[in-house]
Amino acid sequence: MSQDKKLTIEAPLGESKILLHACCAPCSLAILECLMQNKIEPFVYFFNPNIFPKSEYEHRKDELARHCDALKIPFFDGDSDRSEWEAATSAFGDEPERGARCLECFKLRLLKSAEKTRELGLKIFTTTLASSRWKSFGQICISGKFAESKAGGVKFWDFNWKKYGLSERRSELLKSGNFYNQLYCGCEYSMKTSPAFQKSREK
Ligand code: SF4
Repeated sequence: MSQDKKLTIEAPLGESKILLHACCAPCSLAILECLMQNKIEPFVYFFNPNIFPKSEYEHRKDELARHCDALKIPFFDGDSDRSEWEAATSAFGDEPERGARCLECFKLRLLKSAEKTRELGLKIFTTTLASSRWKSFGQICISGKFAESKAGGVKFWDFNWKKYGLSERRSELLKSGNFYNQLYCGCEYSMKTSPAFQKSREK
């Protein structure tokens, strides 16, 4: 999908402002472009205590904040210590990606996103996690529903952001903007098991 071939979308309830939970700049590129083309104003929220180590966390956050700044989009930093994330996921360290650890990881991140949505006076939230072909869309939807019911008064937009040419557009924008593209999902477990990350260490 090139920029001139616009995908037409509408946010639930016809809302013109939404919260976008974002994990990094690359996963946000095509989604932000699509939202803005459709006159849906995104409020970007970075809450990702899963990302390890701290240097990687800061790198991903800074790049996303810079991109939002360039687009004049509000950016909210959900900085936190990792203790809550560790408590939620530590029992599942041996699980493969798409397993129980990822479900708990998504639930925590989307619950905080739902709470932030309410705090900002918005009604709808969605997530860049749904743009990744490596993640389970089913787990993301379960987590979004969990988050909306816990937070109350907000709705999860279960849009599949990797479909309709958006994955291809992500790649185009990633390349043309020369963004940093991470080699593993985020946590220490995914780092240890990522062939791309391990390969980069051998060089
Ligand atoms: S692999 Fe990714 S989604 Fe799964 S627990 Fe780690 S950071 Fe979270």
